[in-house]
Amino acid sequence: MSANTATTILIGGEWREALSRSTFPVTNPATAAVIGWASDGGADDTAAAIAAADGAFDAWAGTTAHQRSGILAQANLIMRGRQKELAALMTSEQGKPLKASLNEVGYAADFLAWFAEEAKRIGGVTIPSARADQRFITMRQPVGVVAAITPWNYPISMLTRKLAPALAAGCTSVLKPAALTPLCAVATLEVLVEAGVPAGVLNMVTTSRAAAVGDTLVESPVVRKLTFTGSTAVGKKLAAKATESLKRVSVELGGHAPFIVFPDADPVRAAKGAALVKFLNTGQACISPNRIYVHRSHYDTFVTTLTERVKALKVGAGETPGVSIGPLIDERAVTKMESQVLDALEKGARVTVGGERVEVEGLEGKTFFAPTVLADVTPEMQIYYEETFGPIAAVMPYDDEEEVIAKANDSEYGLAAYVYTNDLSTAIRVTEKLRYGMVGVNDINPTSASAPFGGVKASGLGREGGYEGIDEYLDTKLVGIAV
Ligand code: NAD
Repeated sequence: MSANTATTILIGGEWREALSRSTFPVTNPATAAVIGWASDGGADDTAAAIAAADGAFDAWAGTTAHQRSGILAQANLIMRGRQKELAALMTSEQGKPLKASLNEVGYAADFLAWFAEEAKRIGGVTIPSARADQRFITMRQPVGVVAAITPWNYPISMLTRKLAPALAAGCTSVLKPAALTPLCAVATLEVLVEAGVPAGVLNMVTTSRAAAVGDTLVESPVVRKLTFTGSTAVGKKLAAKATESLKRVSVELGGHAPFIVFPDADPVRAAKGAALVKFLNTGQACISPNRIYVHRSHYDTFVTTLTERVKALKVGAGETPGVSIGPLIDERAVTKMESQVLDALEKGARVTVGGERVEVEGLEGKTFFAPTVLADVTPEMQIYYEETFGPIAAVMPYDDEEEVIAKANDSEYGLAAYVYTNDLSTAIRVTEKLRYGMVGVNDINPTSASAPFGGVKASGLGREGGYEGIDEYLDTKLVGIAV
């Protein structure tokens, strides 16, 4: 594909070039090859997209829940029908192994299916009044135009996690996807348009100039809600600007998940679980364990088992069978891995496997980093507080429960936490004390379209998915009726 055949932006039902007519390249991180070009939208395109969403709002909000549900259900079928094609695109654009891409497309479609059902359950309540001549009812109505800003690490499911509930609620939207994965965003919107989403209801501005588009979205008084997934630094900035015009805000941000192995747990099973969840998406996941605390009685067994499992992980291009570690998204990510490893080694940690950048024969991509286990990590090290977002498992011993809970909570973040124990009361007691939005108990994947996803503290505001997911897109209107 050349710059002349770049993908387009979507405004008011029309797929068109950005007004500037400029484009930007999209690169496969494994091969370093340019695989496409995307339209480089700007503030002017964004203003047009907001106007289109505003213009389409009344009619869309006026459709029946069953009509909106039908379109989402159809989108679910179309997306599942394209699972292989979308997964192949995702692997070439983002780098994750093909199997993980297939899983992600399924997860993305789950949000379409889930919110197709939830659309039909938007109801209000009746409330008894203190006055005999009065009745109260509540209506739940769409908040208005939504601005959705999404990251590159889950380039399809993070879109449907926002757009599906917005559509179900009767909101219209403007999407700004990450500059590193615009092709997945275009393919996702094509699915929704084909399913019957009317002109203007969904608009999308791809861009390499995130701040110009983002600022236009958050500063517009017409936009009534910001939904953002990405880093804490950017999310905080955008949320602050969005609240100047008192928009509804939900932000899903960074994480620094503790993973705790108690003395009554099976250390081999826990190490196998850690090896699976830590290296998912090459560690580029917000729920990735960042501090693995293992009771001293199990420490050696755990480190040995984890090291053996990690040695068996194959690094390469996501399309290659058997590969479970793809490239990191860019050079900056590799530099961060190198800096965290170097800092940890200087302060007394041990690398038991990996620890450095690797080259993969036949591939031009330079952002492969060996899956790594760092043992004997301490709070003095960068990796102990800073989100890694890459394939490094940081492990350390602990001695007692109170100490490990305090350490686990000693983080600005509060997204996911993991607990391995075979004692029911330990599981409940510890889960209650962990200041995190999600806890996996002997479970490495506490996520599903039907369950609320989100964090506390610097990990964000609001919940996506589950029963709560649609609430972010609805206002409650009280009606008092004199009878
Ligand atoms: P990022 O914050 O750099 O980018 C996220 C989005 O914001 C992208 O679309 C980007 O283009 C846009 N953006 C960047 N600067 C902007 C600006 N000044 N104005 C407007 N928009 C701007 O994050 P990323 O590197 O794409 O994603 C990685 C981060 O996302 C990690 O911290 C990860 O933990 C987090 N994340 C969180 C969740 C969650 O659900 N909590 C899920 C996935 C990723």
